[in-house]
Amino acid sequence: MASGSNHDRFTSWCALPFGLLCWPLLGWGGLLAGSFGFLVGGLWLSPDLDTRSKPSRRWGPLAPLWAPYRKLVRHRGLLSHGPLLGSGLRLVYLGLLLLGFSLLLQPLGAPRPTALWQWGTSLWQQQQPLVLTALAGLEASAWLHLLQDGDPLPPPLRR
Ligand SMILES: [Zn+2]
Repeated sequence: MASGSNHDRFTSWCALPFGLLCWPLLGWGGLLAGSFGFLVGGLWLSPDLDTRSKPSRRWGPLAPLWAPYRKLVRHRGLLSHGPLLGSGLRLVYLGLLLLGFSLLLQPLGAPRPTALWQWGTSLWQQQQPLVLTALAGLEASAWLHLLQDGDPLPPPLRR
């Protein structure tokens, strides 16, 4: 299993090459979306958010928001370190956090959940290839993480 520093180093090294893979298909936007998704996936939405780790500390004052996730998800389990499932669950969790903030901060004028939903669907409709590229970068960085951990297979299939 790799250390947090090794995960960060490999994520940083591989983000631009991943973006360059996207460049022939989508141009500069693809390069930026792919690299950005890869960096965010490796540094802020890492599979190791399931434990006290560099990615969880990177959230700064918002780090405690990931405590319920750590309670719910076993460290290096299928729900955090499973291909596709891990990234998907972290994105759903992040979406629920945004929804919660939106509801709690209504008195302060925060955007309503419906406005957030409209923004998301509008982004999806207008920039679908770039959104998919960013999501692919996010998932690719998770796969890099799993390979570094030495367990690219989901836990039920490990030896
Ligand atoms: Zn890990």
